[in-house]
Amino acid sequence: MIKINENFNKLQASYLFSDIAKRVAAYQQANPDRDVIKLGIGDVTRALPDACIKAFHGAVEEMADDNTFRGYGPEQGYDFLREIIAKEDFQARGAHIEADEVFVSDGAKCDSGNFQELFATDIKVAIPDPVYPVYIDTNVMAGRTGLWRDGRYDGIVYLDATRDNNFVPDLPDSPVDLIYLCFPNNPTGATITADQLKKWVDYAREQKALILYDAAYEAFVRDESLPRSVYEVEGAREVAIEFRSFSKTAGFTGTRCACTVVPTDCMAYTEAGEKVSVHSLWNRRHTTKFNSVSYPVQRAAEAVYTPQGKAQVRELVSYYLKNAEYIREKMIALGYECTGGENSPYIWIDGKKDSWEFFDTLLNEAGVVCTPGAGFGKCGRGYVRISAFNSFENVSEAMTRISRVL
Ligand code: PLP
Repeated sequence: MIKINENFNKLQASYLFSDIAKRVAAYQQANPDRDVIKLGIGDVTRALPDACIKAFHGAVEEMADDNTFRGYGPEQGYDFLREIIAKEDFQARGAHIEADEVFVSDGAKCDSGNFQELFATDIKVAIPDPVYPVYIDTNVMAGRTGLWRDGRYDGIVYLDATRDNNFVPDLPDSPVDLIYLCFPNNPTGATITADQLKKWVDYAREQKALILYDAAYEAFVRDESLPRSVYEVEGAREVAIEFRSFSKTAGFTGTRCACTVVPTDCMAYTEAGEKVSVHSLWNRRHTTKFNSVSYPVQRAAEAVYTPQGKAQVRELVSYYLKNAEYIREKMIALGYECTGGENSPYIWIDGKKDSWEFFDTLLNEAGVVCTPGAGFGKCGRGYVRISAFNSFENVSEAMTRISRVL
């Protein structure tokens, strides 16, 4: 008899986006003449930069000729992409990362979900609340938690991100081994300073812990005083893994390309206390379970670093940042406390009431879709997330409508 992994039974069905879809469908049925503006899901809406499209086409043509055709590529990614990422994203910012520490993949979602596989089941895991749900659910699947009780899983150390700490969690009270951090944050849009990040790096070094740092939104950081990579902080090479993605940076959500940085200095420990290189473990895992990103996609990603690509990507991100700033300013003018919307595509709004009630008001009275904060964790109750991923015309129309009803 085939038996299931019982840990899957502990998972709370994620009703968030299906609940939203149901409510939107009901609204549309009742109001067939009104259009709905979606500022809910964090998916980009604008086309790939021209430099990426040109490189993509060129690589597809190479695949059409026996002389330039490529089959399986190196599992870790082609050198041309690993090298340019190490140089432009890290070395150019003073962070010491080598090309062979960069593992190209098809998404920060998979990598941030899969990385925990390298570690023992009985480690203590610290996860922020509210949070991108992948970090929690993958640890539940792996059997690192108890049951779900009052909005949380037993066994996880939750790191509250609230107004009191400006949505940057404090160090945990009890020792932990694996720490998830994400900045700029989804869903709160909060950013972290180098000093705040240093406290986490120092803590991880003391505890022999490891930080999984999700920098999927780093391209939105425009304040030069803020770190874009955890490796801008001294000591991070010993204790931090970083997830990066071309999804939000360059519009690759449907094209799929990302990378995970695993410095050779990062160590984990055997039961007997012997050091093991996390880089070797991840390399083993990655080459066993993953067969690389397609050649044309890697060429398209490489084009992000050409002079034209850089300018186009900057313009793309600036476009969404302008939307974000607009949403933030309007919500503040309406008397709502907001975080994010600066150096981030997300605006996290204290709705001053139940987050689903606030969602329903925006949908039913303004025809605007946001995301209820409760879907991201207990600390998200009372908040909603508005995303800047839409056209400026739609964003400004949405804010006009919202201003009329709030
Ligand atoms: N990490 C965070 C924090 C995200 O919000 C998202 C997507 O919404 C991802 C990772 C997924 O990135 P990718 O498209 O590279 O899988």
